Amino acid sequence: GRGASGEADFHRARMRLSLQEKLWQFYRERVSIPAEEQATARRAALDICAELRIFLHAKLPDMPLREMYLSGSLYDDLQVVTADHAQLMVPLTLEKNLWSSIPGEDTIMSLPGFWLIRRENVEYFPRGSSYWDRCVVGGYLSPKSVLELFEKLVAGSINWPAIGSVLDYVIRPVVPSETLTLEVQYETNRRLYVDFLPLLVMDDGVSLIAKPHRLAAERHQNLWRQSFRVAETTRLRALDQEDDGCRCTCLKVAKAVCKLNPALARLTSSQLTNAILLLSEREGDWTQEALADRFLQLLRSLVGHLEDGRLPCALVPRVDLLCELTPAEVDELGYTLYCALSHPEGLLAQ
Ligand code: GDP
Repeated sequence: GRGASGEADFHRARMRLSLQEKLWQFYRERVSIPAEEQATARRAALDICAELRIFLHAKLPDMPLREMYLSGSLYDDLQVVTADHAQLMVPLTLEKNLWSSIPGEDTIMSLPGFWLIRRENVEYFPRGSSYWDRCVVGGYLSPKSVLELFEKLVAGSINWPAIGSVLDYVIRPVVPSETLTLEVQYETNRRLYVDFLPLLVMDDGVSLIAKPHRLAAERHQNLWRQSFRVAETTRLRALDQEDDGCRCTCLKVAKAVCKLNPALARLTSSQLTNAILLLSEREGDWTQEALADRFLQLLRSLVGHLEDGRLPCALVPRVDLLCELTPAEVDELGYTLYCALSHPEGLLAQ
């Protein structure tokens, strides 16, 4: 017959099998969003985007912007549970000779992953030479001030009730909000939140977004956040394509778990994506059959990163993706995930 260790292996295999089944069931029933729901949400976002384009062109023809576009998980098939949010990217154009970018690690804040945008050549091109000079604070382009400018326009001078009634939506700006967000009620029970996200694309391809540092100390207020989202999701998808892997599925399950468990709500898609990318560097088997093993390994690696107090960005390792959590939050997340390791099914029961 089977020895004690064989017995234990068999038992573990059965446990794993059932976690595997539960994960796929959870994926089908809770995580993935029906195509129709996604399409309706995208339609609503697109309608709003079109209205904003018309408004901004008409009202502020000299504001140096490139064409706005929609982005986010809703467009990458990485949104989970409900189709309820999207980002409206608003690319600002900056005059080459008037601005320079300074990486956060070279500043007094010593913060990789964040940047300052300094106004240059004021002697030759005095204040007012650039449209964006109105958003300069203490010599730097202030993302906060850029957001406030849009807030005045978008929340203050657009007649959203009128536009909403034409489009057959209920639209209202969300106040107060960290960034600028529109709430769109597009069916009786469906709400979509559209974040307005001003964006700078630098010459070297670095993208910076006007999303404030979460622990917004005074000295952090001028920092622009480097966005790795496009590169991260592209890499994840490419790896899956190479081996027909389950990394994106694993990410979506983890995102849903965090969305449905309040104690894990602080974990972001970017942290989860990078943890999976780092795991992919040392783990080769991402076949669909390995989902439960990889999911457990992801939980364990997150516990490890939280214990270290550091989660390096897979693309730029000096960037620490835990830098916006307080030590107490890091502890709480670590503890919650550590407890979940012995009973991972509990995470799917919400
Ligand atoms: P989800 O919101 O968890 O479903 O994940 P997403 O992948 O859609 O990430 C959206 C979040 O990433 C938002 O909080 C954005 O502020 C932030 N973000 C950072 N860079 C980008 C970017 O280039 N595009 C978009 N859409 N969001 C970005």
